[in-house]
Amino acid sequence: MYNIILKNIDNKYEYEELIKIFLNPADYRLFTDAESEVAEEHPEATIVFNKNAHRDKNDVKREIYENLSALTGKKPEWGILTGVRPVKLTGEMFAEAGDYDNVRRRLQQAYFLHPRKADLLIETLQYQQANVGKVPQDTVGVYIGIPFCPTRCLYCSFASNQVTAAAAERYLQTLLQEIAFCGAQMHEKGMRTESLYIGGGTPTSLNESQLQRLLEAVTESFDMSIVREFTVEAGRPDTINKEKLRILHDMGVDRISINPQSMKDKTLELIGRSHSAADIETAYKLARETGHWIINCDVIAGLPEEDVEDFTATIRRLTEMQFENITVHTLAVKRASRLIDIDKDFHYKQAQVVREQLVAGEKILRAAGYVPYYLYRQKHMAGAFENIGWCKPGTESVYNVRIMEEAQTIIALGAGGISKVYYPDENRLERVPNVTNYEIYIERFDEMLKRKENHIFQEEKTC
Ligand code: SF4
Repeated sequence: MYNIILKNIDNKYEYEELIKIFLNPADYRLFTDAESEVAEEHPEATIVFNKNAHRDKNDVKREIYENLSALTGKKPEWGILTGVRPVKLTGEMFAEAGDYDNVRRRLQQAYFLHPRKADLLIETLQYQQANVGKVPQDTVGVYIGIPFCPTRCLYCSFASNQVTAAAAERYLQTLLQEIAFCGAQMHEKGMRTESLYIGGGTPTSLNESQLQRLLEAVTESFDMSIVREFTVEAGRPDTINKEKLRILHDMGVDRISINPQSMKDKTLELIGRSHSAADIETAYKLARETGHWIINCDVIAGLPEEDVEDFTATIRRLTEMQFENITVHTLAVKRASRLIDIDKDFHYKQAQVVREQLVAGEKILRAAGYVPYYLYRQKHMAGAFENIGWCKPGTESVYNVRIMEEAQTIIALGAGGISKVYYPDENRLERVPNVTNYEIYIERFDEMLKRKENHIFQEEKTC
C-alpha cells in the first residue's frame, strides 16, 4: 500500500485519474497536505508530489507520470491525458499553432503521448476537417432516447429498462409531447436540425406501431430540409424484423446500428446479450435487403474470456460483411454495471490483452480500407485506451463528431437526455438534463419542459 501525498493541491481528484492508470485504487491512499498526517504513520511507503507550490497542473501530472512509470514499469500511451475528448484538444492546439508538426511535437513532449497516439489524433482531426467541416450557423443536433432493451448486458451503465409494451406506450405518449414541444420551439427560434439521432437503450425495442408513430412525430415536428443524417440505433438484432426495418427506411432513416459486440457465441451468452452471431448476420442481411443506408456496428475489446484471436476474428468477419462503420470500444467497468459487482478490477487485468487486441484489430481495419473518424475516452477503461469510430471514407457520422467537438447545441429528448446548450461567444456548454428514470420522467414531465423552455429556448442565441 502506497501513501501518495499531493502537496499544494486542493483538488486531488483532478490528478487521481492519472494515478489510477498506474496503480489499482486498492494499492494506494491519496492525501492532500491537510490530510497527510495519516500518511506519516507509514513513511516508508510514502510518495510525495508537487513539493514546489504554484506549478502548472501539467507539470504536476508530468511529475506523477515519470515517477509512477519508473515505479510500475508502465508507460501509458495516452501520456498525461485523461480527458474524454483528446481530438478536441488537438483541434484547439492546431488552431493556435496552425501546423500539424508543431502539434505532434507538443502532444509528445508536453503531454507524453506515444507517437502512435499523436499520429492517431492528427489523422482523426484531419479527417474531420476535410469531411465534416465546421458547424453550420443556427444548427443543432437532436437526440431522442428510448431507454428500453430486451435484456440488460453485463457491462451496461446506460438507461436500459426491461418493460412491457404498455409501459413503453406510456413513455412514448409523453415523449411525443416533448417532440412536438421542441419542434415548435426550434421552429420559432430559427434553430435548424443538422442531425437526428435516436438512441437508448434500443429504440427498436418499441413495437412496429410505436416506432411508426415516433418517426412520424419526428419528421412532422422537426424541419427535415437540411438534415444531414437521420440515425436510429437498432442495436440488438433480437429487436429487428423486416417490418421495423421497412418503417425506418420509409421514414427517411439513413443510418442504423446493428451491434454484435462480439461474433463469438460463448461471449455473447456470458455478457447477457440474448442473441447469437448468426442473429447478427440475419439482421444485417435483412437490413441490406430493405434498402440503402449506412450500417454501423459496435464491438468491444477486452470482453471477459476473449483473447486476441477471438477479437480479431470478430473484426475480420465484420469487415467481410462490409459494415460501413465499425466502432471499436474498449471495455469500461463502470459503477452502474453488473460487471463491477462481479470483478471491480476486471479492467486492470485486461490491459495487456486489450493493447494486443487493439493493435491487431487496427491492422485488419486499415487493410480493409477503414479510417478513424472520431474517438473518445472514458473513465475505468481497460488499459486506459480509447473508443474509435472507424469508417469507410465518406460514411462518417456527423452527430458523433459534433458531440465530441462540443461546438454545437444538442437538444436531447426523453428520459436520460442531457441537452447541451452551446454559447459560442464564451465557447462554453451548459447542460440541461432530463431525469434518467423513465417513470419519473413521465411523472415530472411538466418540469422537464419548463427546464427546456427556461434554459434552451428563452436564450437569445444558442447555436
Ligand atoms: S444494448 Fe446497450 S443499452 Fe441495452 S442493455 Fe446492452 S449495453 Fe445497455
